[in-house]
Amino acid sequence: MSAASMAALAADLAAGRRSALQLADDALARAERAAALNSFIRIDADGARSAARAVDAQRAAGAALPALAGIPFAHKDIFCTRGVATTCGSRMLRDFVPPYDAQVVERLASAGAVSLGKTNMDEFAMGSSNENSAYGAVANPWDTARVPGGSSGGSAAAVAAGIVPFATGTDTGGSIRQPAAFCGITGLKPTYGRVSRYGMIAYASSLDCAGVLARSAADCAIVFDAIAGFDPRDATSVARPAEATAALLEQPLAGLRIGIAREYFGSGVQAGVGERVHAALRELERLGAVLVDVSLPNAHHAIAAYYVIAPAEASSNLARYDGVRYGHRTAHARSLDELYSLSRAEGFGAEVQRRILVGTYALSAGYYDAYYLRAQKVRRLIANDFAAAFAGVDLIAGPTAPTTAFRLGEKAGDALAMYAADVNTVAVNLAGLPAISLPAGLAGGLPAGLQLIAPAFAEARLLNAAHRLQLATDWHLQEPAA
Ligand code: GLN
Repeated sequence: MSAASMAALAADLAAGRRSALQLADDALARAERAAALNSFIRIDADGARSAARAVDAQRAAGAALPALAGIPFAHKDIFCTRGVATTCGSRMLRDFVPPYDAQVVERLASAGAVSLGKTNMDEFAMGSSNENSAYGAVANPWDTARVPGGSSGGSAAAVAAGIVPFATGTDTGGSIRQPAAFCGITGLKPTYGRVSRYGMIAYASSLDCAGVLARSAADCAIVFDAIAGFDPRDATSVARPAEATAALLEQPLAGLRIGIAREYFGSGVQAGVGERVHAALRELERLGAVLVDVSLPNAHHAIAAYYVIAPAEASSNLARYDGVRYGHRTAHARSLDELYSLSRAEGFGAEVQRRILVGTYALSAGYYDAYYLRAQKVRRLIANDFAAAFAGVDLIAGPTAPTTAFRLGEKAGDALAMYAADVNTVAVNLAGLPAISLPAGLAGGLPAGLQLIAPAFAEARLLNAAHRLQLATDWHLQEPAA
């Protein structure tokens, strides 16, 4: 519907051709026209208009404003927003109105970005298709019979449909990159600890990362620069100054060494996806990059390790939803035990309950060593694989997901098939690394994603390579038919 880049919108705003209020009204109208996608859980039209008016007033008063001032966007409904309901895709939090803003929310608000509201997501960010939302599935704008990916499916669909130029997301095992790939947009998962998790509802705390979904790497860089940095309220936030990546986008790629991870091109990769990824790699080579074969020998253990560690942490994080302090409370309890168990049985959906059971089991006294401890050792091996590979290359590349977007319902009854959709993304979280998914053209009419992975804190290198590729190609400009 509207693929204007953020730089173009910012130029329009600065020149007075458009006001922030006009941009907000246009985005709200697009959201209404695209309501059938179900990409939003809540639209806060009044909040958006008053934020836009505030930016317009500042501009009229002659203030120098940041690049994001007046740009409409949306937050994944996992970020706490003061005074605006935050459900995390769950019935458990249907009526939860946070008394505070997440750090990411604060940062974007102080940069003047105008939030339209909260996007749909898999419940507690558990899923790869957005079918686990208590507020209904989201449709992929490229084919509404298909999933947008998950768990940041609402954010990805809203950007791909042109409702907003960017949206926030979170990525615990691929939830920014895989929906970006399925929806034909660009998604950046930063280094663990680079963006504060303060006010971001916890799924698996040692893996959770906040990031951004946008049309291009250049737009991702603007948003990343606004949200990255130390926050004393998150004990895992890294006290290291964030470099301004937007200023480093243009560097030539000559001599950049890109490792082609052979494990990422296994038999499960759909032929069309493999072709598109190879085409993108050839383009990077034409731009001066050197392609090198690398191996990540423990890659095939990543899914198993992730689906022990993530549920283990989730089972602990989700223990707080007990029907007593906040969240859903059953009306049918006859005892305290029933208050806990019925509140949780009524409030949590099937996949969340499955993860709590798996995680509790893996952490139990008799099985801790066999599952949780073993998974942590595998996690170390996976991180070591990346460290060894990065001794010889600057970036590692492969398909973001092995397939294009699958059909709604296709994997919904088969948890293991669903988990396999994350085969190329979860290892990155286990190792805490930054990665980006970029559109690499269409396979069978649907977007295919290229994933680039970098060493910790090398977001600038990732965004630079992605931006140079996007300057030379038009895959990121392809849009679904209205
Ligand atoms: N699909 C993965 C899961 O269900 C990843 C989700 C995420 O990154 N939040 O856990």
